Amino acid sequence: MHEIILCKLGEVVLKGLNRHSFEARLMSNIRRRTNRFGRFKIYSRQSTIYVEPMEDTCNLDGAYAACKQVFGIIAIARAQPCEKSKEAIFETARTYLGQALTEAKSFKVETRRADKTFPMGSIQVSQWVGGALHDAFPHLTVDVHHPELTVHVEIREDAAYVHAPSESAAGGLPIGMGGNAVSLLSGGIDSPVSSYMIAKRGVQLEMIHFASPPYTSQLAREKVLQLARELTPWTGRLTVYIIPFTEIQEEIRRSCPEDHFTLIMRRFMMRLADRLARELRCKALVTGECLGQVASQTMDALRVSEDVTDLPVLRPLIGMDKEEIVRLARHIGTFDTSILPYEDCCTVFTPPHPKTKPNVEEVREMESALDIEGLCDRAMAGRDVVRVRY
Ligand code: ATP
Ligand code: MG
Repeated sequence: MHEIILCKLGEVVLKGLNRHSFEARLMSNIRRRTNRFGRFKIYSRQSTIYVEPMEDTCNLDGAYAACKQVFGIIAIARAQPCEKSKEAIFETARTYLGQALTEAKSFKVETRRADKTFPMGSIQVSQWVGGALHDAFPHLTVDVHHPELTVHVEIREDAAYVHAPSESAAGGLPIGMGGNAVSLLSGGIDSPVSSYMIAKRGVQLEMIHFASPPYTSQLAREKVLQLARELTPWTGRLTVYIIPFTEIQEEIRRSCPEDHFTLIMRRFMMRLADRLARELRCKALVTGECLGQVASQTMDALRVSEDVTDLPVLRPLIGMDKEEIVRLARHIGTFDTSILPYEDCCTVFTPPHPKTKPNVEEVREMESALDIEGLCDRAMAGRDVVRVRY
């Protein structure tokens, strides 16, 4: 009989209809992420989703690792099925959990009996199997309140199952439950992390990136696509809209005061992201901005840059320190790519003394020299659309 994967649902407070759509989304996300590892039967029972291989060739290690990165799953374990007899359950626990039982100091057995025709009650099964395991591993003590290891036994219609210890998983909400948003992805450390954080709350992301060739290179573009690819184990497949930004930057440099260059450039980024969001029916924008990190991220500067959109601008890193952001970047697996030394369009034409306390009316006035609509139309028309997957 095949070993299976058990996924525990997060956000247990969900109830009613919400719970049903949570489970349905989660199962379809799990199906999509595991299907490259073989054919699996995926179904839910009592706040647990079962991922069961349907053929010998299934790669269970691969599927297990993939499920660990699916948002909505809070804990994950494997389980070994066996024949429905107390002797078979004991023998399976002894061998399948041999290492965990050797390493633990205390344990207990917990049984769930879904098959009510099974001749023993769940407490009796726990006592019998616990006693036999105690004889087999005499160093163990039984601790029903705070055991180091809980041996879970489940008796179902088709078989009995012995669970391995569970590990914590991605948490969050299933992608697709929280609507969709456009995320501004640069080549830096921050924006992959902000994208991850919003995706974790169940939001389907569309990625937008501004490139300024020939000031930014093909390698810089590849780096951004690589970052998007590294996000896909968490987010599922992504579409990256690469928007040409050179003409806008050159126009700003030509027509606007130098100390406002970065701010006006950021306003254009927001305008273009806003246009893409409307086109794709997304309900918010996401950035990796963090209060006080650079001149364009003071409170006044944030006010000026979000002035051009009336969509909510989600900034999940707003109160985080750089060290916390770096720790998360390492955890999600984007850090090493983020620190590759390619230029971003933000580093092109950066003023030596950027304005830190800008004024919205003044900035609007400075922009009146520009053909804002024409610049945005041409940038959107010149887009390049790239789909990335794991
Ligand atoms: P990051 O590490 O993400 O590059 P940062 O601290 O360097 O962030 P900025 O360069 O000021 O900050 O950019 C702030 C945010 O604006 C980024 O987190 C990202 O969301 C967005 N952004 C900046 N440059 C680009 C770009 N070239 N394409 C798309 N979005 C961008
Ligand atoms: Mg940047």
